[in-house]
Amino acid sequence: MRTMIQESSGERAGVYLRISMDRTGNMLGVDRQLPPCLALCERRGWQPIVYTDNDLSATYGKRRPEYERMLTDVQNGTLSAVVCLHNDRLLRSPRELEGFISVVEDRAIVATVQSGDYDLTTPTGRAYARIGTAMARMEVEHKGERQVLANQQRAAAGKAHGGPRCYGYGRGGKEFASSYTMSCWRADGKPPHGTEIHVDEAQVLRDVARHIAAGETTRSQLADLNRRGILSATGKRWSQTVLVRLLRNPRIAGLRSYKGQITKAGTWPAVIGEDDWRRLQARLRVRDHGVPLREGTTSKYLLLGVLRCGRCGAKLGGRPRTTGKAGRKIRTYICRGGPEGGCGGIRVVAEAVEELVQAAVVATLNSKEFQAARRRRQQTGDTGSAFLEVQRLASKLEELAASFGREEFSFGEWQAVRTPLEVKLKAARATLDRLERDASQSALVDVSDLAGRWGELSFDRRRSVVLSLVAAVKIAPAPARTGGKFDPSRVTIGWRV
Ligand SMILES: [Zn+2]
Repeated sequence: MRTMIQESSGERAGVYLRISMDRTGNMLGVDRQLPPCLALCERRGWQPIVYTDNDLSATYGKRRPEYERMLTDVQNGTLSAVVCLHNDRLLRSPRELEGFISVVEDRAIVATVQSGDYDLTTPTGRAYARIGTAMARMEVEHKGERQVLANQQRAAAGKAHGGPRCYGYGRGGKEFASSYTMSCWRADGKPPHGTEIHVDEAQVLRDVARHIAAGETTRSQLADLNRRGILSATGKRWSQTVLVRLLRNPRIAGLRSYKGQITKAGTWPAVIGEDDWRRLQARLRVRDHGVPLREGTTSKYLLLGVLRCGRCGAKLGGRPRTTGKAGRKIRTYICRGGPEGGCGGIRVVAEAVEELVQAAVVATLNSKEFQAARRRRQQTGDTGSAFLEVQRLASKLEELAASFGREEFSFGEWQAVRTPLEVKLKAARATLDRLERDASQSALVDVSDLAGRWGELSFDRRRSVVLSLVAAVKIAPAPARTGGKFDPSRVTIGWRV
């Protein structure tokens, strides 16, 4: 809905700002409306005069003294343009538009940052303005551009997110039984509720994080929370999704993110220190590399996702086998044939191979080489800066792609800058992966005498130690003459370097 306008320098434009609350309770303040309007004036060569109405406590249709003063200035020829962020700042209803048109009609241009220009001297321009006002009414119903602008601005400032309350933050008491009591800004202008640490919840969150960093699974922590009757931020029982999302949220480490990217340190306190949080992410990722543990029988297979068929290379699955003696079931790992992709030619008794691999893991944990390597790793690892470097390069590439999309440079030029950046990004990602793996391994053995206490560790803990040390275990086919007895030479362990 842009129409051609005559641009002339030195003319005065009335910049109209209306401070109000939107439906989500967010204040659309001067600092968000003014800069883009001034930028528009500068582009057009207009001299800005600012008019500001505070509509905060206004009921609909209340008088706006500055708006009226601005109209008077249009009428007496002081202003030749009216500028605002969006036409919904200027006009609150179609009825107001008609009054506005009758005053401004052939005296001034209307230019908005977000909804284009209106030339009210022509029937077409007036029609567009009328449609625009109707659309603006509709837009109030949606989460619009203003929200995006506000979110960007808040992210850039490292300010807290709005929206539902994050577990671990907020004051105690009844008002926080439900999460939806918090919005970014309160009418009284005080900081949002969600930036204060909720002492009890923070402790729960730290305990969960500590257990997971030490090798427990999210599943076991989830069960524990629900068993203890601890409720989530929405006052409900925890689900796996809610718990994992919370643990992955940079917010609990006092880090601000925008669209999934960490932008900077937040202005609120961390429940979990940044280093601990990054280590936690590494733990969550290590588990991602393995086979997710499901409820039921599969959880009894310690080496699921680790064992490989020595004939075809497929991952072995866990399957109970009924033996001849009174239908007793024993656990086995098996190369599944058919549609699941394996050759179906390998089967091994679970207990025997698990015992062997665990013994090897314990021996490795005890070895001088491993202890020395761990000390070296602890000295070199700075996952934090590696993480930020990856983020920086990735967002730079995105920016470039966007510029190319806007045809700011040619394809050849784009290629020329993109390729070296991609190489760098790949290297940074590799570094980050290595550091995170190291961090998770040293987190594992931070607990003293892990090997000595192996037998007391929970299944989850043992599995996560195995997953972070062992890349794969190859099981060779059974030799013909063993008579069903397990032959340890069938097992080849591939360690993570
Ligand atoms: Zn196979």
